Amino acid sequence: MSILVFVEYHDGTIAPSSLGVLGAGRELASAAGLPLVALVAGPGADQVAANVPADTVYHAAGDRFQVAAGGIDALAAAVEKSGARVVLAGASVNSADVTGGLAGRLGVGINTDATGIVFEDGGFVAERPSLEDSVVVRCGFTGGGDGLSGVVLFRAGSFSPLEPAAPGASEALDVPESGRRAQQFNGLEQAATGGVDITKSDVLIGAGRGLGGPDNFAGVEELAKVLGGEVATTRAVVDAGWYAYSTQVGQTGKTVAPKLYIAVGISGAIQHKVGMASSGTIVAINKDPHAPIFDFADFGVVGDLNTIVPQLKDKLAARKG
Ligand SMILES: Cc1cc2nc3c(=O)[nH]c(=O)nc-3n(C[C@H](O)[C@H](O)[C@H](O)COP(=O)(O)OP(=O)(O)OC[C@H]3O[C@@H](n4cnc5c(N)ncnc54)[C@H](O)[C@@H]3O)c2cc1C
Repeated sequence: MSILVFVEYHDGTIAPSSLGVLGAGRELASAAGLPLVALVAGPGADQVAANVPADTVYHAAGDRFQVAAGGIDALAAAVEKSGARVVLAGASVNSADVTGGLAGRLGVGINTDATGIVFEDGGFVAERPSLEDSVVVRCGFTGGGDGLSGVVLFRAGSFSPLEPAAPGASEALDVPESGRRAQQFNGLEQAATGGVDITKSDVLIGAGRGLGGPDNFAGVEELAKVLGGEVATTRAVVDAGWYAYSTQVGQTGKTVAPKLYIAVGISGAIQHKVGMASSGTIVAINKDPHAPIFDFADFGVVGDLNTIVPQLKDKLAARKG
């Protein structure tokens, strides 16, 4: 029996989210008294396996495993060989495909969007924020016994990543052809995101839920333009679909350290703070004088952003002119 982690990698480097999940898996394995086993599947998986910090690492190397259907074959083989009681993975489009397919094939449950997991009364209970992260739901699995209980997918950034390290043992995994593949791997191209890289900007205007809606970003965009900066956002904004995920700052977004960060309509939740607290100067604009952002801002303006942002932009533009 084991705790099994599905490990992802890009350009031969283990994804930070997988290193985080391995950390959670390590704690879970020790609580359950089970070994921590990992699977790496895809081109060059045998080399990546040499740096995966687990008791045993299975590798399934080859293009065949680059597509989800091949990944499911490999993961199913790893579950069988390791006697996995639970499969853990970081959330991504690929791992959702592979682990979702595995759950369907083996007829087990899947808990998504989890941020924690504990071993309790002989079973596995995942913790999952819900209702706009205002409550934490605890979800276990029915059935499973000594076999596979289910799969848990974790939000990116939920755990501190482990350092890559040589595994206790590494082994090539024999993956029988399931004959279920309807895809083949034809190559990999970098997608043109077209977005800006907010981590490179000296000035960021952080826009929060206080803006009120997707049509109200013109003010912060103009302010960013006057200061030669970019717009960054909070998770609340991204989850609402108001702005692109690539602009999200925080625990499950980007970590930024611009010279100037102006937080507009942002409450200052800890998960946002961890992504921007290293900024040189932090200015907060918020109508609530008790908003947590004022506890760590260098300068604070209490008031309505709809009044303050246009005034600030006009004054800065006039001074620049
Ligand atoms: C595991 C986990 C990971 C997370 N990761 C992230 C992350 O990476 N990044 C992130 O940002 N969050 C993250 N969150 C969510 C985080 O907890 C907060 O929910 C989120 O940061 C709140 O965003 P906000 O400040 O935009 O919205 P709110 O908390 O709703 O704050 C809006 C603020 O706007 C102010 N306001 C409203 N109207 C006006 C006005 N007219 N003028 C001035 N001020 C106004 C309000 O007073 C309020 O303070 C995560 C949560 C969890 C559980």
